[in-house]
Amino acid sequence: MAKISEKCSFCGRDKKDANMLIAGLNAHICDYCVSQAKEIVKEELHSERSADILEIELLKPIEIKKYIDQYVIGQDEAKKILAVAVYNHYKRLTHYQKSRAEDVEIEKSNIIIVGETGTGKTLLARTIAKMLHLPFAIADATVLTEAGYVGEDVESILSRLLQSADYNVAAAEKGIVFIDEIDKIARKSDNPSITRDVSGEGVQQALLKLLEGTIVNVPPQGGRKHPEQKMIPINTKNILFISGGAFDGIEKKIGSRLQTNIIGYNIDNDKEQIDKDNIIQYVAPQDLKSYGLIPEIVGRLPIVTYLRPLDKGALRRILTEPKNSIVKQFVRLFEMDNIKLSFDDKALDFIVEKSVEFKLGARGLRSIMEEIMTDAMFEAPSESKSRTLKINLNYAREKLQKMSIAKLRVA
Ligand code: ADP
Repeated sequence: MAKISEKCSFCGRDKKDANMLIAGLNAHICDYCVSQAKEIVKEELHSERSADILEIELLKPIEIKKYIDQYVIGQDEAKKILAVAVYNHYKRLTHYQKSRAEDVEIEKSNIIIVGETGTGKTLLARTIAKMLHLPFAIADATVLTEAGYVGEDVESILSRLLQSADYNVAAAEKGIVFIDEIDKIARKSDNPSITRDVSGEGVQQALLKLLEGTIVNVPPQGGRKHPEQKMIPINTKNILFISGGAFDGIEKKIGSRLQTNIIGYNIDNDKEQIDKDNIIQYVAPQDLKSYGLIPEIVGRLPIVTYLRPLDKGALRRILTEPKNSIVKQFVRLFEMDNIKLSFDDKALDFIVEKSVEFKLGARGLRSIMEEIMTDAMFEAPSESKSRTLKINLNYAREKLQKMSIAKLRVA
């Protein structure tokens, strides 16, 4: 073949201007066109996938809760509320696609979950995202700052969502964002706002824009906006925001509100006894306001729910019952080395007791278990014959005795 014809048949680039020219039957293609073609294929496939999102069979709230039950122990009130919210979110999305101009517009209902750390806020949000196969991103409100300050802009939340959607904008626009530690950006009431409150109200204002539903220009790689970085506009109108926070001390605010109500309006209130041990269940939007969230944010998070502190019973169930419980995970790990692992009930009770004693909650269960199992995990794989290994109370106690509590606390 004559040298002259050695050009890319797609862009006309000469062989010497390309890194590589691949020959076909009657044509050539250069490396530039190959990568561009790859992008086109990827985009096409993505847009098909985003259409698919709405084709997924819509689970009913009861089925959604049943699904969550497999992974999350207890917390029935929150599960119910989340199941309904997610179901409605889905209905909105399908409705939005089919809607006619004269239709009633269904507004979205973002959610706020109040509950101590380690009670399952993130787990709930993750489980829902897994079930729905929607793009999902977790953001930590504590690292967010107002634009121009050191830290992350609120847009970075959407960068993460976009990444999780494989840069498919249409899919990201239907995703779910979990904003953790939203209580940490509460306005500090004792802060006279002469200087700007970097970590508080300013961030709330910035966040408000996302929650309200606007088009936000997002730096695709996250981080700071670089002039050379091409921004991607994302409409947040249909993104479901679930936020969570421990709201340390909010019980006092709830308590005093309930107290005022009782004195003010319900003199004859012996019908509805207040459960003082679990005051968190009465949390309402006005308590979030008195805690320091600005009214506009509270207004944009209309569904308020709560998680109960995990008691011994719940922790014990968490060890064994969830589909991917810690115990099941360890059994599976050992199974791969032909070891049939099992635990005495007393050993499991002991793990729970220690977690409660060290105030480690559900997160402590795993670190204690890891500590107990380390020696076995170190030695067992080298033993060639298959066997059984039963962890009893004495074994657990002995292994844990060597452990430093300080180490567990960090975990
Ligand atoms: P939070 O977001 O409230 O701080 P997480 O959801 O991160 O808490 O929970 C920490 C870990 O504790 C989870 O990964 C999970 O293993 C366990 N856990 C907490 N609550 C539950 C629960 N209700 N059911 C099952 N596991 C739980």
